[in-house]
This record gives sequence, C-alpha cells and structure tokens, in this order.
Amino acid sequence: QWGQIRQELRKSVGESSYASWIEPLEFHQLDDGVATFHVPTTFLGNYVSRNFSDLIMYHMKAISGGRVVRVNFSVPANSADRPRPASGGSQPEAAQPKAARSAPIPTGSDEIPGAPLDERFTFDRFVVGKPNELAHAAARRVAEGGQVSFNPLFLYGGVGLGKTHLMHAIAWELQKSRPDLNVVYLSAEQFMYRFVQALRDRKMMDFKQLFRSVDVLMVDDVQFIAGKDSTQEEFFHTFNALVDQNKQIIISADRAPGEIKDLEERIRSRLQCGLVVDLHPTDYELRLGILQTKVEQYRVQYPGLEINHGVLEFLAHRISTNVRVLEGALTRLFAFASLVGREINMELTQDCLSDVLRASDRKITVEEIQRKVSDHYNIRLSDMLGPKRLRAFARPRQIAMYLSKSMTSRSLPDIGKRFGGRDHTTVMHGVKRIEELRTQDSQIDEDLELLRRALEA
Ligand code: ADP
Ligand code: MG
Repeated sequence: QWGQIRQELRKSVGESSYASWIEPLEFHQLDDGVATFHVPTTFLGNYVSRNFSDLIMYHMKAISGGRVVRVNFSVPANSADRPRPASGGSQPEAAQPKAARSAPIPTGSDEIPGAPLDERFTFDRFVVGKPNELAHAAARRVAEGGQVSFNPLFLYGGVGLGKTHLMHAIAWELQKSRPDLNVVYLSAEQFMYRFVQALRDRKMMDFKQLFRSVDVLMVDDVQFIAGKDSTQEEFFHTFNALVDQNKQIIISADRAPGEIKDLEERIRSRLQCGLVVDLHPTDYELRLGILQTKVEQYRVQYPGLEINHGVLEFLAHRISTNVRVLEGALTRLFAFASLVGREINMELTQDCLSDVLRASDRKITVEEIQRKVSDHYNIRLSDMLGPKRLRAFARPRQIAMYLSKSMTSRSLPDIGKRFGGRDHTTVMHGVKRIEELRTQDSQIDEDLELLRRALEA
C-alpha cells in the first residue's frame, strides 16, 4: 500500500520534489495511528516533517482508510547521521540553549548592534481591533518621532499578540520619516549576548559607547534578562544613560513589569515610569480581520484558489489566542490546498488542521448546539432529532449539523449518532447543503453568526 500512497504523493508534489523528498522515505510501521518512516538524515526528516506531513497523512488515510494521527521520521540506528552531543563552551550567562528564531547577531564591536527587521511587520499590515488599539495608538505616537512623550513605552502581552510586530513597525516608520535617527531594535537575549561578548573580548568601552549613541532603542522580550545579574546591571546603566539624554526607549515583555520575577527593583520601577500598555488576548472580530487581511495576501500568491468564507469564521472561532498559530494554520491550508488542487472548505480544513484544532478544542458539545438551534428556530428538540423531513425541521437540523461539524471535533458518524442515529452521509449532505445555502441566503448566514456567538458566549 505504501507503493500506492507514494504514487499519489508523486502526483501531488511533482517529480522533482518527489525525487528529493519522498523517494528516500522508507515506510517502517503504522502503530496506533502513528506512522513511522526511516529517513537517511535528520535534515531530510525535519524537512519532510515540516512540509509534507499533512499530505502524507492525507493520502495514507485516503488509501488505507485507517487512522493516522501523526507521522514520525527517524534515522535508523546504524546511520551515519546520528545526532552528536553538542560541544560545550560555557559562558557566564550564555549557557541557555540558543533559540533558533533569534536573528543573526552581528559581530565586531563597531557595527550597529541591532537585529534585522522583518519586512512584513509594518503598520500597514497590523490589524487594529479593541484588544490592541491602545498599544497600536501608543506605537503610532512613538513612531511619529517627535517629542519624547512617554519614556519608556512598555508593551506587554502574551505570546503571538503582536509585540514584535509593533516594534518593527515603529522602526520601519522611523527609518522612513527620520533617517537621521539611529534606531536600534534587538531582543534582550541579543543584548545579553553582545554584552557577554564585549566582556570576553575586553571591549566594554566600545559596547557602552555604542549603546549610548543610539537615538531610539528597542529591547524585545525583556523578561529574558530577569535573574541574569550582570546583564541586568548593564541594561540598567544603558537605560539610564539614554533616558538622561532624552532618547526614546521601547521595551516589550510577556508580562507587566510588576510581574516579572527576579527583576531588580530599581529596573522595575524605571520601567513603570513611562507608559505601560498591554495587548489583550484577541477577540473573534480581530481574529477574523487578521485572517481576511492574510487571505488577500494569499490571493496574490495562489491565484485561483477558492476559500469558503465559513472556513475563516471557523478558524477565528476555534484558534483563539495566539495570532502566530492562526496565521500558521492559514498558511498550511493554502499550501495544502494548492498541492492537492482543491477548494478550501470545511472538510479540507478538518483534514489538514486536525492537530491544531485538537489542541485548541473549546469543548462545545453537540447537545448544546442542538438545544440552541432548536430554541432559535422555535422547534422542539424531539422534532430536530426525530425522523420528520419537513423543511421546518430539516433546515434547523442541518444547521445544527453544520455547527456541530464546525464547532466540535466530533466525526461525521459520531454526529450522526447524536442526531437520532442518522448515517454519516446524511450529516455530510447537511453540512454541504448549509455551506451552499449560506452563500445564497443572507438570512441563513446571519442566523449562523448569531448562533455561533451565542454558543461562544
Ligand atoms: P509577539 O512578539 O507578541 O509574540 P509577534 O509580533 O511576533 O508576537 O506576532 C506573531 C505573528 O502574528 C506575526 O506574524 C504578526 O505579524 C502577527 N500578528 C499579531 N498581531 C497582529 C495584528 N494585529 N495584525 C496582523 N498581524 C498580527
Ligand atoms: Mg515577540
């Protein structure tokens, strides 16, 4: 069967990708939903895992009909590419594992000590909603580069809510409007790294001079330096020197200054002197707005690819905190749909994002949905679940099925069972019918929106 699956993959990914990435895979076993493949190198395994896992699972499920929840890639024990123990090289505070996401750090003490900016992180691409409007307004104000009105600007909020995006946006804006200013952005981790390096190379004077000649300093994820005494000390001096010169400082952290443990008290109170604003967790409207903006961008990249509007609402509803995860889900959907050449509808979304969806399950039950829907249409629950085929019962029934499919992680057969023992094809038909109807009938679209909100509340 693996042979057959390979042929399907070959059709999906094309000859050259097939030869580079799929051909070398050796099917090992399928055990309890986990498919394991042997790969010649960890690099290949990682690449395939990142780019083709979904596709492999999709075809495996389609052909074998079995349950495949995960694919694993491992290098067999006798291979040359076994992971080697990392070579040690310990430095006072730099012993933390280096995060892969951190930007390359410039070396040589007379370079500008900043990190590169992400070109997607501009104000244009930042979607403003209730949860982030204050932070956005403050960032805009600082980006005007006029009088220093609050110093520092302290932005905080959970992972993936747009702190780094806003900081880069400020930097881009200032580079445009005030090219004379020396604007430096870096993470607290990079700050520490530069500091440790300067200590080691006995270049502390250069280091101090460099940071004190900056006009606008942005330090991202400052919680990182908590508990790292000498780095905190140096940060404190840099900070004070800049504030004394009336230079703008912008800091971000994953929590409020008062809540960062192991942060020196004097730093804490300094950080609280300016404007402290938080990015609140996203709400449904903001998430939908972000998705819509992204889809516009993908339209250019994947012309001709259709996305069902219900899918965006579904994602905005189900992936509820981290914008990065939300964006990742959409990226994956588009990539996947273009590979298999299918429209992005609810079914494809469920197939492609099962892992993400499972992780963010909000546990709304089919029973709850049935109750809300029958209330809404003023019919009895027994009529919704019973055998009557009158439109007055059948339509709400299909709506409830549609919502069950999109708001819970239940399978079609499972949903059918809960609708008076109906067959999974009946459920599938119902879901499709509503998917069609809502593009033609705005009343249904509105009803769905209302119901969804009511259920979310
Ligand atoms: P943080 O630094 O707070 O962890 P990021 O700034 O890295 O989060 O944002 C994570 C991802 O989400 C980025 O790709 C960013 O562009 C995107 N993002 C976050 N908030 C918004 C928003 N309001 N509008 C558009 N994109 C956003
Ligand atoms: Mg960040």
